[in-house]
Amino acid sequence: MGIMEGKSVLVTGVRNERSIAWHTALSLHREGANVIYSVFSEREQAGVKKLLDGAGITAPIFLCDASDEEQVAHLFQQVSEVSEGKLAGLLHSIAFANKDELGGEYVATSKEGFALAHVSSSFTLVTLAKGARELLKAAGGGGIVTLSYLGAERVVPNYNIMGVAKASLEASVRYLASDLGAENIRVNAVSAGPIRTLAARAISGFDAMVKEVAEKSPLKREVTPAEVGDTVLFLLSDWARGVTGETLYVDCGYHIMGY
Ligand code: NAD
Repeated sequence: MGIMEGKSVLVTGVRNERSIAWHTALSLHREGANVIYSVFSEREQAGVKKLLDGAGITAPIFLCDASDEEQVAHLFQQVSEVSEGKLAGLLHSIAFANKDELGGEYVATSKEGFALAHVSSSFTLVTLAKGARELLKAAGGGGIVTLSYLGAERVVPNYNIMGVAKASLEASVRYLASDLGAENIRVNAVSAGPIRTLAARAISGFDAMVKEVAEKSPLKREVTPAEVGDTVLFLLSDWARGVTGETLYVDCGYHIMGY
């Protein structure tokens, strides 16, 4: 029997077969979870349906712009109906910034671009956590996991505004963990190494970041999305029942190196 057998988990952020959220969903399905999907667009909805059909899986796929609080409230009404009002976990795998601000100098960031990156990539965790709270409580508690990157802590060339938004996201993880801990709701982040996805393609010089990890990390290779998915699964599951407010690196150890 899988560790997530009979438990409902809401997964956001599947865009295509490369998405970190898709690989996490595969880990969750493997461990017996009832995965519920929330996607950004009708195009993604059709894409996820195709992926699920290919894997022989049936699951609800709802539409939601997570930066719109009304849409988030509606999403959780729909989620409640298909989960008997109980949720064991939530994956936030959402980020967005203007492509032209993911290169060059950070000092050139616009006010609009700054706000857009923070609302899309950090505030969406708050709205989703708020929306999921009652359903997680009804399940006796559960896990919330988001995806971050090393650029939250260190200057990574071209990551710019997204690094600042990820710093906000990681701080948000700690504040949410503090608010929700008394309800046995745990909130954690996985800081993944660079993986070739659509979101990553927007960052100038991304291939060089992947190459650098493969050359310089202790494991001397790229991180895979399946490895990230299995770590998210761990944090969502009871195996991590004593872990909250944490940022856990899945980057082949790259962040420990001093060069
Ligand atoms: P992806 O492009 O497959 O996924 C990004 C998802 O965010 C898409 O599904 C998109 O629709 C969704 N999204 C954006 N704005 C949204 C909104 N307002 N409401 C709902 N959904 C919205 O790329 P990915 O790399 O799998 O990204 C997932 C997460 O992982 C992001 O937070 C990203 O920053 C993070 N991450 C990625 C890497 C990497 O190298 N790929 C490394 C570390 C962290």
